[in-house]
Parts: sequence; C-alpha cells; structure tokens
Amino acid sequence: MVTVEELFATDVLLSEDEREIRDTVAAFAARRLRPHIADWFEAGTFPARELAPELGELGLLGMHLEGYGCAGTSATTYGLACQELEAVDSGIRSMVSVQGSLAMTAIYEFGSEEQKQQWLPELAAGRAIGCFGLTEPDFGSNPGGMRTRAKRDGADWVLNGAKMWITNGSVSDVAVVWAQTEDEGKQVIRGFLVPAGTPGFTAREMHRKLSLRASVTAELDFDDVRLPADAVLPGSRGLASPLACLSEARFGIVFGALGAARECLASTIEYARTREVFDKPLAAYQLTQAKLADMALEFGKGQLLALHIGRLKDRGVVTPEQVSAGKLNSTREAIAIARECRTILGANGITLDYPVLRHANNLESVLTYEGTAEVHQLVLGRALTDANAFR
Ligand code: FAD
Repeated sequence: MVTVEELFATDVLLSEDEREIRDTVAAFAARRLRPHIADWFEAGTFPARELAPELGELGLLGMHLEGYGCAGTSATTYGLACQELEAVDSGIRSMVSVQGSLAMTAIYEFGSEEQKQQWLPELAAGRAIGCFGLTEPDFGSNPGGMRTRAKRDGADWVLNGAKMWITNGSVSDVAVVWAQTEDEGKQVIRGFLVPAGTPGFTAREMHRKLSLRASVTAELDFDDVRLPADAVLPGSRGLASPLACLSEARFGIVFGALGAARECLASTIEYARTREVFDKPLAAYQLTQAKLADMALEFGKGQLLALHIGRLKDRGVVTPEQVSAGKLNSTREAIAIARECRTILGANGITLDYPVLRHANNLESVLTYEGTAEVHQLVLGRALTDANAFR
C-alpha cells in the first residue's frame, strides 16, 4: 500500500533541505496544532497571540523574505510549509500567509528602511502580528473601487473608511491599510501602516462564520484616523502594489490547499479500509476505489503543477497568470476532494471527529479569497484571448 504522495513519488523532486524543513513543519503541526484544531474550530477561536512566537521561532513568518530576521528560504520551501500547515487547517495557513505574504511583503516591498527596521524583525519573530486591509464591504473582487480615503492635512494624513473580512484584524499590532489618495488631482491607491490603538481605529472580530472558524476575521473602521507623514508606504503606488502582495499569498495557497486535500484523502482511505458495509470493507468496493483513484489523480496532478510553479518562482520567472492557474486548480480540486471524501465517510463525515467537512467548509473561503475562482478564470481567459471580460 502507498500513500497518495508516494504514488506520484513527488519527493524525488525535492532537495534534502526542502524535505527536512517540510518534515520539521509537519512534526510541529502534529505536536502543537493537530491535537487542538477540532476544538478551536468548534469554539470559533484561534490562539494567534500564543502561537505567533512559536511560528516565528520555526522561521515560518515571512519565511521567503531575506534579512530583517526572516528565514530567506526558497519559494518552494515556503509552499511546502504552507502545505503542512493547511493539512491541519486552512485557518492556520491563513494566519501565516497574511502575516508573511501580505503584511510583511507589503512592508518589505514598499516600505521605507525605517518602517522595515521597525516592523519586520518583530513580525518575523511573531512578537507582533500584522494584517492586510484591502477588501471593503462593497468592494471585494473589484478593490479599485474602494471608498477608504487618506487625505493630507498639513504633513499628516487623515484616514476614513472601513475594511471587511480582514484576517488577523482584531489581534494585529499593525494594519497595512490600502486607501485612495489624491496626487496632483489624480486618485492613487497607497498603503498605510496603522498601529493598533491609534485613535479613531477600531477592529471588531466577525462571528457566525461557518468556514475558517479557527481564524480571526475582523472588520476595521477608520474614523478620522490621524497618521504621521511617514505612515505611508513610500514605494506603494496604485492597485498594482496590493495585487503584487496578493500574488505572493496566492502562491502559498497553490501548495496549501493541496495539504487539506491530502489530509482528507489520508483519513478517508484509512476509514474506508476499516469500515465494513454489506460484510466487507468499503475500500474493497469498485465504486469506492474509482472515487479514491480519481481523487488521488487530481491530487498528484495538482502537486506536480504546484512544484512546477514553485520552481518557476525560484527562478524568478513565474507570471501572475501561472500563479492564478495554480490557485484555481488547487482550490477547485481540493474542495471537490474534500466533498467526495465526505461521501465515503457517510454520516461520520459530518462530524469534527474527521477532518473532511471542516476542510471542505474552510476551502469555501480559500476558493473565494485571494481572488475568487471566477476572477482567476477571467485572468486566464484574458491571457488566452487578449479580451478583458472583467467588465
Ligand atoms: P464579490 O466580489 O462580491 O464576488 C461575488 C461573486 O461574484 C463571486 O463569485 C465572484 O467570483 C463573482 N464576480 C466578481 N466579479 C466578477 C466578474 N467580473 N465576472 C463574473 N463574476 C464575478 N480581504 C482582505 O483584504 N484581507 C484579508 O485578510 C482577507 N481575509 C479574508 C478571510 C476570509 C475568511 C474571507 C471569506 C475573505 C477574506 N478577504 C480578505 C476578502 C476576500 O478577498 C474577498 O471576499 C474576495 O476578494 C471576494 O470579494 P467579495 O466577497 O466581495 O465577493
């Protein structure tokens, strides 16, 4: 008997270093995260403050960035780490993605040297938590329409508006907030660093979620928030700046979502081998095997695509369209796998005793954030036809 990973022997495509780091993350996840995840999910909590320093110590926060206390690993290694975290729960990978690929990457790419020195080592160590506020109540797929505004008042900036669905939002020490500004009469989107506790800035955790329950999601409000001149990320200019960060986070999902799929498959195969129906194990029926074979095939193809995209990124030649293709494929196939696994588990599949429905529910969010599946279809459609079908 082989595991779905062994079936495709994808490990031979990894270096010894990559395997070692991946196995270290897997061991941490097995010891520190997996035993608690069902309880966190059921309670709708995530101990972000407690876990952040541990994730920092492992080098997982801003893992692929260089300097400022970051580990400076390859992109593929970062992807593999995301996969191990998301095998436990998409909420944990979300926390790490938002901290490293969104908040830290925004500061790393567009921040001043002072901003980098102030925030990156703290965020890398998990002594501070960051979030990334782009989405608004009325603007998700079309963030360019955002209403949040930062206006000059003397040397200061005054920020007004609201952000919604912000991961880590109410536990963050610093929020990277995207706002419209005016520059010589033209509207330009720029990033601002807003520390927690700044007067006029409030963050409220959102509840009643049926997906990513083990993840902090918040609404951010900015009511005449006065910020010093140096709160702006000086290198940020236009929507391309937040979109560049999103492409980084999406890359982690290309690998991560497959971790959720892998976990569903492993637990389902184990279940099917021991569950007896009509006097023999469920795994011995052709219908079950057809389902398992098809799911394993999609997992294997997804893993090969993820590794290919990882290698392209490590060579510095990956395109946003390739990352879109990977994100679309991994999330779409992972959610299909999670749902099909649920059918094999029957009634047991709807409980938190097995990871499948928790993963399927989480993957609803993963399919939607960092660009919905439809948005990535439009990205690929535009690349293939040169016709923009967004509007
Ligand atoms: P909409 O944009 O309203 O889309 C609704 C539907 O319309 C979708 O099916 C979409 O694909 C479709 N659609 C949109 N445009 C088109 C089109 N042109 N043609 C055809 N169909 C279209 N945002 C942040 O900024 N920071 C975060 O940390 C963050 N964390 C999140 C955490 C969670 C748990 C969730 C659920 C969301 C998070 N988001 C975050 C927000 C997320 O990025 C948005 O939900 C996403 O961009 C989609 O926006 P929307 O929900 O407004 O959907």
